[in-house]
Amino acid sequence: MTTIKQRYESVKLRIADAAIRSNRKPEDIHLVAVTKHASMDEVRQLLEIGHVDFGESRVQHFTQLDAQVKEHIDRRSEIGELKQTEPVRWHFIGHLQRNKCRRVLPLARLVQSLDSLRLAEEIQESAEKKQLTVEVLVQVNVSGERNKSGVAPAAVTHILDQIDTMPNVVPRGMMCMAPFFEDAEETRPIFTRCREIFEDLKISPNVGSRFNVLSMGMSNDFEVAIECGANIVRVGTALFGEVDEVSDDSTAECAKS
Ligand SMILES: *Cc1c(COP(=O)(O)O)cnc(C)c1O
Repeated sequence: MTTIKQRYESVKLRIADAAIRSNRKPEDIHLVAVTKHASMDEVRQLLEIGHVDFGESRVQHFTQLDAQVKEHIDRRSEIGELKQTEPVRWHFIGHLQRNKCRRVLPLARLVQSLDSLRLAEEIQESAEKKQLTVEVLVQVNVSGERNKSGVAPAAVTHILDQIDTMPNVVPRGMMCMAPFFEDAEETRPIFTRCREIFEDLKISPNVGSRFNVLSMGMSNDFEVAIECGANIVRVGTALFGEVDEVSDDSTAECAKS
């Protein structure tokens, strides 16, 4: 049995190796630990070793974990046990329904999944009411898969033009996903294409110098993504393990009886 700490160290090492292979510094690549299938106990263990970036795709789990994490941090800093005082940084990475903005925006450090103009408008409206500035990544559907959300590459410039008129929405970069391949090498053309789109956008007049984040790569393909220029990787399974379908079923059984 490997512990969460060992899996974390191993992912960090693989990130560092991939960074060095692509002539970058390991500390320039940020690991977002995706908590979709993580327990609070596992999250707590990562907090203990000083990890701060967490990502979640479901609003319910997101708000629950955030509350538990804050409680944990408050308790630990009161008794002086927790070394880092920086609070956790939450990344929202799932499809965000417009009626959930109100709950998510005050908690999220970065919304990585801006996937439509209508969502941008809703974020602007909600952020203005709460007097927040919301940093976002535009999620681009580079592979063109129908079942994936994201803006088509040809529409990204238009969306950024519109965001440029929204004072409370700050575009920080791009997020993208590759389809799942057994052989991660097959994601390389897709990540390469993402990088090209990102570089073109970076020099376009409607984004500022803060448009510098390229979030791509998950458990199966983060090393290839880093080699193609990612500076954020979003890793869940490699840290927290596979979903335990059996135990999911058994809870369902319990609920029924
Ligand atoms: C679940 C998820 C991840 C993490 O995927 P793993 O394969 O478990 O590492 C990354 N990004 C997004 C948007 C996700 O929904």
